[in-house]
Amino acid sequence: METRILIVEDEAGLATTLKDRLHKEGYAVSVARDGNAGMDLATREPFDLLILDLMLPGQNGLAICEKVRQLGSNAPILMLTARRQTMDKVIGLQTGADDYLTKPFKMVELLARVNALLRRAGPGKIPAATRYQFGDLQIDTRSTEVTRGGRPVPMSAKEFHLLQYFVEHRGATLSRDELLREVWEYGGLPTTRTVDVHVAWLRQKIEKDPKSPQLILTIVGLGYKFVG
Ligand code: CA
Repeated sequence: METRILIVEDEAGLATTLKDRLHKEGYAVSVARDGNAGMDLATREPFDLLILDLMLPGQNGLAICEKVRQLGSNAPILMLTARRQTMDKVIGLQTGADDYLTKPFKMVELLARVNALLRRAGPGKIPAATRYQFGDLQIDTRSTEVTRGGRPVPMSAKEFHLLQYFVEHRGATLSRDELLREVWEYGGLPTTRTVDVHVAWLRQKIEKDPKSPQLILTIVGLGYKFVG
């Protein structure tokens, strides 16, 4: 049984990013781009989790949240708010929302909240692992296991997160700054050299010939690119 998520968000870019990312995690995702369409979907179809932007054209996120609760649904609700709407956040939690996230947020943070809410909601709501295969290299993002030719490849958490970021953005040139920002978000004061060192370690583990990498390519002057 698929886990269904409704996103009500009027910012087109964010709505698409959220939809794509959650879809990749294995969720069935519906998107409404204004409050009225969101209200319509939320009250007509069963969802396992709702992600509601607070400020929407038409009915706002709080109105949808209240209505869904009035109808007796106890599906987890995650509210998205802009930074300055602190008061509204509080009201949101009083009207039946389970959690909120302040914009701008990192996708990993949203996924963590979604998973936590679904875990609380009951077993079987979180989709099975996402598996990637590149030649004899296999990566399982849920169990965080990497194997090569069937043999486990031991990795530090940081190496795994770096690899996961590469894989999820394969084909794109990623700057050292982006990798630092996305993978080392809570670290001390890492430098771009940190990225290079970790890439070198990853290559030792996943490349057939680390001196002539086929998976993580160096794009001179720009950064790195994962090709699979
Ligand atoms: Ca909005």
